[in-house]
Amino acid sequence: MLKVDNIHTYYGNIHALKGVSLEVNAGEIVTLVGSNGAGKTTTVKTIAGLLTAAEGGVFFNGEDITELAADKTVRKGIALVPEGRQIFPFMTVQENLDMGAYSRTGDADIKYSYQEVFTLFPKLWERRKQQAGTLSGGEQQMLAMGRALMAKPKLLLLDEPSLGLAPILVETIFTLIQEINRQGTSVLLIEQNARMALLIAHRGYILETGKIVLADQADKLLNSDEVRKAYLGE
Ligand code: ATP
Repeated sequence: MLKVDNIHTYYGNIHALKGVSLEVNAGEIVTLVGSNGAGKTTTVKTIAGLLTAAEGGVFFNGEDITELAADKTVRKGIALVPEGRQIFPFMTVQENLDMGAYSRTGDADIKYSYQEVFTLFPKLWERRKQQAGTLSGGEQQMLAMGRALMAKPKLLLLDEPSLGLAPILVETIFTLIQEINRQGTSVLLIEQNARMALLIAHRGYILETGKIVLADQADKLLNSDEVRKAYLGE
């Protein structure tokens, strides 16, 4: 479904991605693990079209989307839930969700997506008329995920969804990611909490200073001594 082929991405002179290749197949949860500054956010931003690779390519269902900007990739079926949620704090919950559907047409279809999102996140229904900035951290994360789902993506890119959340809420978010995946959306997940990410993922990639250094089935990575020492803090 998604094929990232040897991408190089720069910030000015800073060579952040030095040939990253990865794939996400239909139905999968794939996690990208790596320490701070490894290039995880840069990778998902390049896929989503917020940054453009200077070399290499990004392909989605066989189509070259390397040069497409974010408003176009969302129409192709890729939605990003950015690090730090980036919800619109002075809009209501409902208005934030409306923004997620901006790329779509077909009222009945969009209405159905609202039902799906509110079924997945009943709290958002309860709080739909409330200003988004007044939600708790966990609720804001749910809103960011709900807003992305309103674009009806085939692939969801999640950048640090559990960051700053209490442990109980972290569990809830991970359960919801699995549920979203069960309902047919593929997921590329970036997480500080690498252990939990590998527990729900099918496969994983380890990124170090802009390069993929390991790729395997998630359970194999979880059981690797090297990964446990370097990335799982054991
Ligand atoms: P984190 O978990 O801290 O977000 P990350 O793995 O997501 O880390 P990136 O944010 O992708 O890492 O950063 C990769 C490299 O690019 C780092 O060396 C970082 O300092 C650099 N970088 C990131 N954003 C910028 C920017 N806007 N301008 C210049 N350099 C940047």
